[in-house]
Amino acid sequence: MAVIYPKMAVIGCGLIGSSVIRAAREAGVVGKVSVADASEAHRRRIVELAYADQVTDNIADAVKDADLVVLAVPVLAMGSAAEAAAPALKPGATVTDVGSVKGSVAQAMTKALPQNVFVIPGHPIAGTEHSGPDAGLAELFRNRWVILTPQAGRRDEAYLEATARLADFWRALGANVEQMDETHHDLVLAVTSHLPHLIAYNIVGTAADMEEVTQAEVMKYSAGGFRDFTRIAASDPTMWRDVFVANKDAVLEILGRFTEDLQALSRAIRWGEADKLFDLFTRTREIRRGIIAAGQESAEPNFGRDRGKH
Ligand code: NAP
Repeated sequence: MAVIYPKMAVIGCGLIGSSVIRAAREAGVVGKVSVADASEAHRRRIVELAYADQVTDNIADAVKDADLVVLAVPVLAMGSAAEAAAPALKPGATVTDVGSVKGSVAQAMTKALPQNVFVIPGHPIAGTEHSGPDAGLAELFRNRWVILTPQAGRRDEAYLEATARLADFWRALGANVEQMDETHHDLVLAVTSHLPHLIAYNIVGTAADMEEVTQAEVMKYSAGGFRDFTRIAASDPTMWRDVFVANKDAVLEILGRFTEDLQALSRAIRWGEADKLFDLFTRTREIRRGIIAAGQESAEPNFGRDRGKH
């Protein structure tokens, strides 16, 4: 494939940053790659893994001459990373991010960055519970969605062209690209990602605190639904702390709705309203089938985990 960005700078080379590099290199859509990362151990690993032509702890050095800058640090660090990049950016460069929250990140980026670059926030809906540069996967974005939230105030031709180029870049990495208003993004992700993580963190915490059920029993009998919660609850604490702080309004809105529905369920259980429970479980089963039909999940038993074991 033809090179889309002759130089790409990735700020924060953990799971997502290193996956972007691996996927972009495999697709042949970037020329030189530079990386800035705050962690010395990670920088050492990035050199060992030969991810980049330049590895530094200095963001301004990394973004110099870059055509594409990808901010891939935790959500609350996006603003300071953009500030550090700002003075060294090449006019006409595209600056994007991969943060899981878009409203506050877009605001911080717009505030920090100069007018002569194209600020196009983004979010790949892809990930694992692992972090750091070793967790990077070239195929992470394949058949996954990337949501771009272009700035509402920028509709000039050059900005639209830069947005189309960034969408082409993500498509080359195997992703499907959608554009969305940032507030809507934050509400959608509060339902599909942030609340499920909160529930997982909570349920695993509840099980850990129970006195009547021992830790050994929790581990021994976790073949049921609990095991899937523990996988989600193993996600990076820094990343998720930032997500809940940065997406407070949308998460609280969805949490309010969820709590009401949970109360209704608890009432149905208390009063033996079996039909109500059955109707809900039938409806939710259809949603699961819809997700499989949309190619976003495996229909295999146990999520395909046992593939190759038999
Ligand atoms: P990660 O694996 O922890 O990688 C982040 C990297 O950035 C680490 O090496 C970290 O170093 C470094 N870093 C932190 N603050 C920095 C700063 N101010 N300047 C330079 N480097 C800095 O995290 P990740 O999972 O890739 O997540 C990165 C972003 O992607 C987050 O905004 C997250 O919301 C988003 N995202 C994550 C997923 C997911 O499933 N994980 C999915 C979609 C989007 P230290 O370890 O020393 O802090």
